[in-house]
Amino acid sequence: MIKTAFQTSVLLLTTLATTVFASESSVLTKAQRAELQQLTTTASTSDLSYQIVESLTTEVGARMIGTEGDKRAIKWAVDKMNALGFDKVWTEEVAHFQWIRGDVEAKITAPFPQPIKAIALGESVGTGEQGIEADVVHFATLADLEAADATRVDGKIVFVSYRMERLKTGRGYGKAVGARVRGASVAAEKGAVGFIMRSVGTANNRLAHTGITRYQNDERRIPAVALSNPDADLLINQLKRNKPVRFFLKVTAMRNEVVTVKGANVIGEITGSQWPEQIVALGAHLDSWDVGTGAIDDGLGVGMVMATAAHIGQLDKRPKRTIRVILFAGEEVGLLGAKQYLIDHQATLKDHVIAAEWDFGLGKIYSMQANVAEPAIPAIDELASYLAPLGVAYNTANQGRGQSDMGLITDQGVPAMNFTPDGLRYFDIHHTENDTLDKVVPEDLQQNTAVYTIFAYFAAQADVEFRKAN
Ligand SMILES: [Zn+2]
Repeated sequence: MIKTAFQTSVLLLTTLATTVFASESSVLTKAQRAELQQLTTTASTSDLSYQIVESLTTEVGARMIGTEGDKRAIKWAVDKMNALGFDKVWTEEVAHFQWIRGDVEAKITAPFPQPIKAIALGESVGTGEQGIEADVVHFATLADLEAADATRVDGKIVFVSYRMERLKTGRGYGKAVGARVRGASVAAEKGAVGFIMRSVGTANNRLAHTGITRYQNDERRIPAVALSNPDADLLINQLKRNKPVRFFLKVTAMRNEVVTVKGANVIGEITGSQWPEQIVALGAHLDSWDVGTGAIDDGLGVGMVMATAAHIGQLDKRPKRTIRVILFAGEEVGLLGAKQYLIDHQATLKDHVIAAEWDFGLGKIYSMQANVAEPAIPAIDELASYLAPLGVAYNTANQGRGQSDMGLITDQGVPAMNFTPDGLRYFDIHHTENDTLDKVVPEDLQQNTAVYTIFAYFAAQADVEFRKAN
């Protein structure tokens, strides 16, 4: 077998790390450290997580909650967990209303008629068969729209052109996403007839990015679409001519709120040998948007957490605590699976000893941050020493929060671990038709899976109380 440079460095450096920490004060015993070293080698050389993403994107593909794809994904996940040797596998129902995307026709009709590439925001209402045509009123940011006098907006199509910043941390997303979530509502309150916005995304190709929008007022809902980045530029250039710009929009999306659709959280466990009721929770979301095949959002996470549990399940003996993999339903439409999980598991939330999710990023993990009780910090220091050879820096702020779904759960007092990957390229692809398997970098996925495997094994073996006293 030919090893990559990454794999070789992992092997060499983990040997060093386990030597350095072979002291009496270690949380892990000498035998456990040896087992962890073996496990690290396995995870760093296995392509299991990639094979899982390949299987999900090839055999299922897009899987928005309530669709046939989502139903197939749930069955796929149950079958895959069973095939991977999980001890227990089950599903827990999550309900939502039906939304059908339909098509979008968008064009500038004056002063210089041109077709525009656009996509409906998730759960947008439609325009009706006739479509709508109105003058465009432009705002650089959501804040500008919020501050605007209603007389400027009334009867118009509102355009918000804020461009998401490309950052390694992915923090540009947080600044840009408000317009997507709230923009249509703010515009509607001021009398707008439609809402168009620059995609929340960093690519310069002509694909628009979808994602959820929310209506604050059920009585005032207007169609909401995202334009591709180049099309947003084109619209701005026409607006610069200081002539009225007219826009036509036809959206055939349907929000069928009387129709209930069902999804499910899919949960699987490697049952603990000593404290089976104590849970190390690993999350990802199983649903995706209905464009692309959901490879990076969040097929990557699904592959990582399933492979992590499977690698640990291959050991001679189960670790002390249970490793629970939760594949959440309906994350994209409002963290529905996480909300349902909190309801279904309220009584045993105190038994979730620590939790981590993967729902962001394409590149390697470069930083970790915990959120645990003070007395558990030496244990996190030790974990950091096992992860350092994989290139993971240790942020000691101890204010980590679980990603997406798991954020809701760690907000309830469950200790958190957050692993930060390189997010520079993620938002080129996120929520577009380009979210496909070829974007997955196998070597990065291998490193990320190794990180999660080390974390999960450590947390499941460590006789440490991570939870803060309350
Ligand atoms: Zn996601």
